Amino acid sequence: MSGTLYVVATPIGNLEDISYRAVRILQEVAQIAAEDTRHSRKLLNHYGIDTSLISYHEHNEKSRSPQLIAKLQAGESLALISDAGTPCIADPGYRLVSSCRQHGVNVVAVPGASALVAALSISGLPTDAFRFIGFLPAKTHGRCQVLQQVKDVTDTVACYEAPHRLAACLVDIAMVCGVDRQIAIARELTKRHEELFSGTVGEAQEYFAASTVKGELVLLLAPAPPRQPEGTIVEALQRLRQETELSWKEIVKQVAKEFGVSGSEVYKQSLELR
Ligand code: SAM
Repeated sequence: MSGTLYVVATPIGNLEDISYRAVRILQEVAQIAAEDTRHSRKLLNHYGIDTSLISYHEHNEKSRSPQLIAKLQAGESLALISDAGTPCIADPGYRLVSSCRQHGVNVVAVPGASALVAALSISGLPTDAFRFIGFLPAKTHGRCQVLQQVKDVTDTVACYEAPHRLAACLVDIAMVCGVDRQIAIARELTKRHEELFSGTVGEAQEYFAASTVKGELVLLLAPAPPRQPEGTIVEALQRLRQETELSWKEIVKQVAKEFGVSGSEVYKQSLELR
């Protein structure tokens, strides 16, 4: 019988943000794979956990995974943690989890804090659908390329950003998405200086220019406004009739969606064409 890999979330600031189950699992497993063992030892000491640690980070992921798989296959249960929050979310872990799945090793989530979800939950932006793009590229060229890809996304777009890059990042967001786009910026969540800025990109530039930005950040860009379709409803019907094999019913449905009007409204206008 192989052991289980527990993917355990740890706090993103406030040390009380850990579950009873997480503490128990971290105490019970044979070993804990951690990004930075010195950092995690302090965390474990806080909860009185004396389980041994083994390093697992982006630079040794490839070589470490087979060693951990061998331990799991020998029947040991292990936990995977990152420096903060949920492992595998803009953090190492994916390779190990994927390898466990390939080797038939059981993987269990012990959920908890994640900066992404915490920021979304208090942002006031739509959360029914969102797109997480991890860290934005550090340089303007790469950053603008990524922003171009998401500027028309009609869901909330979330990313992580370093404080010293915020000003440059806001300049690029303003250029690509416009100064009037709504943005929420969550800073130092669960910590003493926690704040949530909410306003337009232009207002964010002004607000954060006032002092040196410190701490950890999550940026949330409001969904792009739906694109105004070109031409009239009748022209759109005509175009789809000529250019596609869609049935009349499907054409009416598609045009109604495009123009944000009811099917019966489109149908009424379609009578002109027919
Ligand atoms: N896996 C982690 C998670 O689930 O939240 C994220 C790891 S990623 C390497 C670290 C980034 O998450 C930070 O640079 C920052 O952008 C964001 N972050 C982490 N803790 C945060 C906090 N307390 N407040 C705001 N953002 C935070």
